[in-house]
Order: sequence, then structure tokens, then C-alpha cells
Amino acid sequence: MDMKQIDQQYIAGTYARFPLQIASGNGALLCDEQGKEYIDLASGIAVNTFGASDPLWVEAVTRQASTLQHISNLYYTEPCATLAQMLCERTGMSKVFFSNSGAEANECAIKAARLYAAGKKGKEYATIITLQNSFHGRTITTLAATGQDGFHKDFTPLTEGFVYCPANDVEALKALVAEHKCAAVMMEPVQGEGGVVPLTKEFVQAARKLCDDNDMLLIFDEVQTGNGRTGSLYAYMQFDVTPDVVSTAKGLAGGLPLGATLLCEKLQDLFTPGSHGSTFGGNPVCCAGAISILSRLTDELMEEVKAKSHYIFEELGSADGVKSVTGMGLMIGIETVKEAGEIVSACMEQGVLVIKAKTKVRLLPPLNITMEQLTKAIAVLKAACKEN
Ligand SMILES: *Cc1c(COP(=O)(O)O)cnc(C)c1O
Repeated sequence: MDMKQIDQQYIAGTYARFPLQIASGNGALLCDEQGKEYIDLASGIAVNTFGASDPLWVEAVTRQASTLQHISNLYYTEPCATLAQMLCERTGMSKVFFSNSGAEANECAIKAARLYAAGKKGKEYATIITLQNSFHGRTITTLAATGQDGFHKDFTPLTEGFVYCPANDVEALKALVAEHKCAAVMMEPVQGEGGVVPLTKEFVQAARKLCDDNDMLLIFDEVQTGNGRTGSLYAYMQFDVTPDVVSTAKGLAGGLPLGATLLCEKLQDLFTPGSHGSTFGGNPVCCAGAISILSRLTDELMEEVKAKSHYIFEELGSADGVKSVTGMGLMIGIETVKEAGEIVSACMEQGVLVIKAKTKVRLLPPLNITMEQLTKAIAVLKAACKEN
């Protein structure tokens, strides 16, 4: 049996994999098992912040792996404390809870909201408003938070206490706040899986004010938008608001599983020993990887991300067969005349990896992709979008 057959026989059928086996990589260049090269515009779904096998990241991770790989949260470890300090100093948040994934980072945010509301307003203030077309994860609770029926239907009953607001509809948000006993509003600054749709500044700021007026928490799910992806360390920084809770994961540790939930000052004493926890969360190897990534997410790099983003918007905005380009930084959705799946396949054929978000083509290149690689890949993508 070849590898693909073994995979299909033994792996649970949750993924419709592309017919491609990636064997190795170097930055934004990936290599399949036959040695064919691909320019990577997906970064393992916004995870490989500096691409494949980034040398500084490899050095940091292997050094930590050969020192101490894990010890549990029963003890102090240096990488975990250092990373938490870096995250707090660079965001102005006060505390961090570490987990292993985006869904878990959101679970912690949801628990924080309910715990805070129960203490301040009463246990009945448990409702969390999320947005229609959102995506917050695959656990039963984060599925409930996800405002898309398609994800819910086979798994009910889900966790109670979520209501959904149309994105960018301030009046609808006000009505939901008035109607329900709410703990929080949770949103992605750019809806990623929903089609790479940024929220408006007006909506985000109105949500901030509503949360202030009703003592509700404003939670930003920055699992995909975080860690430099949109051209700032976290995307909220471009909306001129300060969230109470920020969850992040994907690109944080540059290719290792690490989730983080950042809590603002008024929440710094919220969690007490035993109220939440994780066996793997804050694992030293993952944290060493994240320190290597975070320490290089500089203002200069953010300017580079914005310049590359501008280039992509310019090139594709006017391209034949492209209906619209949306997104922020290096998180971009392209609505095309042709079916997105057809474009993904055509690009793959030509040695460029792009992915989909709903009916759009989605780009999430490594932040350090070279202009030469990007120019080449965008030319291939433009040709694939073109109507015949
Ligand atoms: C990917 C994603 C998640 C889920 O992250 P996992 O690591 O797969 O659990 C949650 N929220 C957003 C916005 C995401 O993009």
C-alpha cells in the first residue's frame, strides 16, 4: 500500500486532503515527496509564521527539546514565564493562560467571561454574543460559539448560552444586549473561515462601548489574525480599541501547538488555583518556539507585511476573473469568477499552494516570504483566476 492508501485506511475521515504529500520545506518553499517545489501561500493555515524550518526557530526549539521537553504546570519553567511576560508587555494585558489550540484558547475566554459575570452580576448573566458567519473552534462549546448552522447540525445539543449577531450591525447588537442577560461579546476582527471579512471599525468600537456600558467583556478571537498576520502584532491594534480578553493560537509558536488567552487588568485575579488548567499548556518547547517568533515580530516586519499586502491587493484587485479582494495584512480572501476549488487545483499544478475560505481563495503566506517568491506565486494565481 502506498502512503495515501494507509492514511485513508487508518485516519478518521474528517479531512478532504489535497492529493499532495509535503515532505519538507525551507521558508516559503515546500517540497513534495517527488522533489517538486511549491511556493507556500498558506503557511499550514496561518501557523508557520516564518515558513518551514526557519533556522532561528529550529535552533530555539531543538535547544529546548534537548534541555527539558515537558514538566507540567505543577512546576515553574522559564520559557513559559518569559513568553507570558513578552505577551503582556507588548499588549498591555495583565495575565496569560496557556493551552494547546485555538479552540482551547477560546474555551478559556468563555470561561473567563462566565466567571467574571457570575461574580459581578449573577450566574444568570451567562449569554455570550458572537457573530453570524464566525468560526471559533470544534469543541462542543466553541462550536456553539461558531455562528454557522452547518457546523452545528449533527452535534446538538451544544453548550447553551450563545446568540448570534450579524457582523457590522450595531442596531442588532444593541437589541441582543437589551434582550439577553449577557456576559460578553466575542468576535474575530477579520472573520477568517467565514471568508476573510474584516469587521468595520465603527462596529468594533460600538461593541466596546456597549460592553463598557453593560459591564460585559469584549473578547477578540485572534487565533488566526494574531501574531503579526494582519500587519500589527494583534489585529485589534488597528481598530483603536482595547479588548478585555484576547485569544490566540495558530501562528503564535510558529508551527507548534500553543494557545494563549490574554486577560486585562480587571481580570487579573479572576482565575484561582483549580479553576482552570491544562496538562500540556505552556509546554517549554512550544513556548521556546513562540519566544523565537514573537521576538521577531517587530515594527519593521509589520511594515513589510503591509507592503506585501498592498502588493497583493494591487495585483489582484484589478486582475481578470477576480471579483473582490478582502482582508488585512497577509490574510487575504479573493472572490473569483471561477470556482475557488478549480483555482486551488490549477495553482497546485503550477507549484503554488493556496487554500479556500468558504467560496473564496484564501492567502496566508509566511510573513517572511521573499518578494521574488511572492511575485512568482501571484503571477501563477492571476493566470489561474483568468477566464478562458
Ligand atoms: C482556527 C481557528 C480556531 C480554532 O483553532 P484550533 O487550533 O483549530 O482549535 C478558532 N478561531 C479562529 C478565528 C480560527 O481561525
